Amino acid sequence: MNPDTLTWLLAAGVPIALAVTVVTAVVRRRSGTGIGPEGPTGPSAQDDGPGPATGTAVLDRSVEAPVGEAPPVEAPPVEVPEAAVEPELEVPAPVAGRLARLRGRLARSGSPLGARLLAVLSRDHLTEDDWDELEETLLLADVGAGPSADLIEALRTRVRVEGLRDPGQVRAVLREQLLALVDPTLDRSLNTTPSTAADGSHVPAVVLVVGVNGTGKTTTVGKLARVLVAEDRTVLLGAADTFRAAAADQLQTWGSRVGVHTVRSDRDGADPAAVAFDAAKQGRAEGVDVVLVDTAGRLQNKAGLMDELGKITRVLTREAPLAEVLLVLDATTGQNGLNQARVFGEVAGVTGIVLTKLDGTAKGGIVVAVQRELGVPVKLVGLGEGPDDLAPFDPEEFVDGILQG
Ligand code: GDP
Repeated sequence: MNPDTLTWLLAAGVPIALAVTVVTAVVRRRSGTGIGPEGPTGPSAQDDGPGPATGTAVLDRSVEAPVGEAPPVEAPPVEVPEAAVEPELEVPAPVAGRLARLRGRLARSGSPLGARLLAVLSRDHLTEDDWDELEETLLLADVGAGPSADLIEALRTRVRVEGLRDPGQVRAVLREQLLALVDPTLDRSLNTTPSTAADGSHVPAVVLVVGVNGTGKTTTVGKLARVLVAEDRTVLLGAADTFRAAAADQLQTWGSRVGVHTVRSDRDGADPAAVAFDAAKQGRAEGVDVVLVDTAGRLQNKAGLMDELGKITRVLTREAPLAEVLLVLDATTGQNGLNQARVFGEVAGVTGIVLTKLDGTAKGGIVVAVQRELGVPVKLVGLGEGPDDLAPFDPEEFVDGILQG
């Protein structure tokens, strides 16, 4: 607007009050009324050149009001440009007690098992048919043939020796036997402690996460990063699943929510071993506690998988020893999951199992079967799609979850 506008309006015979109002309105619109990141004197208020999108929008709106039109009292609010807003970091839920918090989901999935076992065991005189029914119930819950037979045998002995009279006693004996099957003596701790190399340099704990695509691997790496952040660990992610286009983006999003960086390649199909190596190297240089490496899991060809994981392992161990190799298994896949476990067990030197989607199955018995199959403990369980729905596996909480309801 020309600075002489007021004079010009007055000369044209416009009443002074209206002329002043029009000029004031135009000036207010140009200044953005102070709403926005820069305040009334910021660049978006003064620059006529192209600026940030919203700054331009402010200028675009500052069309002079035609004479006689009632001036707006306030300019529309200016949106803050996204880039100017630091995303607020999320605070992950505490790790202690997570399984207790999520136990309801286990009960939903496990109650058919617990309730059916209790119902049969509470009958007055257990016949051979009853014992068959018990075994069938265990098999249907994916407990596996060997462990089911062991459990039946143990229960038969208890019944013969002690007799099972009141429901409280039935429950207590079943709890004890299920717990023995899940094996509370296994070491389920995650090795995430960094070490010191011979030359005195810092070596992060490198955790390699393997499993078939679709089992929840990337999600688990994201959730695990949150578990570690909740425990005040510093973490770096390595996106070595370079075959699934969105995997690196997905991982990066998980990390950025809790302030964890991701090492990735900028092109799909890059060598996963190179990305894993870069992540370990950067983790060393930055002095982080834990480097979590996500991998691709294509099972079409066992030799190919073996080559790929073998190469990743070799190059990673040049930088740091593997602290953990976690196999992610989808609990809803039953026998198929066990077959996968067998293959990965052979090729990857698995040290722990993460059983995902336990919230979506009545077959919690897979915990027992997979531990027997691989001889390694279930260390973590996924009980939902929420960011903090990953819990350290606790045998007692697990059995209580199955038996409640
Ligand atoms: P990946 O291909 O193995 O990396 O699998 P993704 O991490 O992409 O996960 C596949 C799907 O499984 C996603 O929709 C996840 O939200 C879902 N998922 C992962 N873990 C769980 C879990 O514990 N419970 C449920 N209900 N869904 C899960």
